[in-house]
Amino acid sequence: MEQTLVILKPSAIHRALVGKIIDRFQKKGLVITGMKMMQLDEKILREHYAHLVEKPFFPSLLESMMAAPVIVMCLEGKDCVEVVRMMTGATNGRKALPGTIRGDYSMSGQENIVHASDSIENGQIELARFFKPEEIFKYTPSDLRFFYAPDEI
Ligand code: UDP
Ligand code: MG
Repeated sequence: MEQTLVILKPSAIHRALVGKIIDRFQKKGLVITGMKMMQLDEKILREHYAHLVEKPFFPSLLESMMAAPVIVMCLEGKDCVEVVRMMTGATNGRKALPGTIRGDYSMSGQENIVHASDSIENGQIELARFFKPEEIFKYTPSDLRFFYAPDEI
């Protein structure tokens, strides 16, 4: 099954939204195959946000992402990169649609609660950045039959 990386950002931790967000992913039918808390540092953030290091807001983004430990998750499911991006919503919380995580919980273009990988390829690169191979687990949830039709799995 396809995998993606989700990060519950310091804004989710400080605002005590962790349970609500994890609950959304699980209820949707996504399977958690990796999850841990970690304190991010400048080195890993410069890699993770390499496309943004030249932006004027980068120092502020760094500070924001180090303002608390984060929770990193590996989620699995059919087409899960696209599904999780849809559940996440637009980058700016003020523009994200209601019903999305950012649309429901964020008023900010920076303090936007979650990160989600934007392609299958980046998902694999990002998972390898935040997890050791043995921290991602293989198991089949017992009720998968009721989340998918036989030809979808
Ligand atoms: N960001 C910001 N200001 C901006 C654009 C982005 O602070 O004008 C932050 C925001 O937290 C965002 C992260 O940088 O989630 C990564 O930006 P990207 O464009 O990759 O958006 P995402 O993939 O998170 O929607
Ligand atoms: Mg991005």
